[in-house]
Amino acid sequence: MTGSYEDRDGWIWMDGKMVEWRKAQVHVLTHALHYASSVFEGERCYNGRIFKGVEHAMRLRRSAELLDMEIPWSVQEIEAAKYEMLRVNGWRDAYVRAVAFRGAGDEMGVSAAGNPVRLAIAGWEWGAYYGEAKMKGAKLDISKWRRPDPATIPSEAKAAGLYMICTMSKHAAQAKGCSDALMMDYRGYVAEATGANIFFVKEGAVHTPLADCFLNGLTRQTVIGLLRQKGIPVHERHILPTELAEFEQCWLTGTAAEVTPVGQIGAFQFEVGALARDIAQTYEAHVRA
Ligand code: PMP
Repeated sequence: MTGSYEDRDGWIWMDGKMVEWRKAQVHVLTHALHYASSVFEGERCYNGRIFKGVEHAMRLRRSAELLDMEIPWSVQEIEAAKYEMLRVNGWRDAYVRAVAFRGAGDEMGVSAAGNPVRLAIAGWEWGAYYGEAKMKGAKLDISKWRRPDPATIPSEAKAAGLYMICTMSKHAAQAKGCSDALMMDYRGYVAEATGANIFFVKEGAVHTPLADCFLNGLTRQTVIGLLRQKGIPVHERHILPTELAEFEQCWLTGTAAEVTPVGQIGAFQFEVGALARDIAQTYEAHVRA
């Protein structure tokens, strides 16, 4: 299915009901549109089973709490709603997008404690996030934007407001022919891409930035577990940009990205090597197991 995301056939779960795709709309005075009071999840359903669906629902509720919002649905209800949405649309393999946000209400200022917290769950069929980069290795730009200090924004939340700099970074990257951008953090350490975590290989060991100011992705945690099961040492630590020259392989992880090898970041080259290919395959088998 192609075309604008607002003009498609299908059903979207919204506040407890299935709504026809084109009618799943909100008012322009929705609080979230003005003040970023919005959190979301990206999940993938493989062969009829959502990978880590419960963990995603828990993270959604947790992200909302970090933004002072309580989602009026339990983890179990959110899980059931996702499967209902998939069933009604007839999908067994799909991307699932849940979004919780402050709707329109009595207040239109910054404060919105009385405005309802709404929940919508949509899905679509989505292949490889980085297209052919999945095989050849993605090319990454280095963003001028930095992941913010956790004292300035709830960086653990998967919140819409945190994506403003991601969209700007990605636009700049795409204008240079890159598929994504690597972002440093507020201290200058290597952080992550605009919607995926990053891993490096050097002399048989794996190094990945310590998730102390950005999303500790569920795919990241899964991949660390799979590597350790294989007996490969994984070091979660602060990584300086100057170290990029020393790494041999690199890949990104994320629900949408899955495991995508990286061939280039700025002027630094990486080999799409044996470990990158192996962990991509292991992850693919694991999510379908
Ligand atoms: N960082 C950011 C900024 C993301 O948007 C994502 C995708 N949710 C990730 C990391 C990876 O998270 P996950 O593996 O849980 O999808």
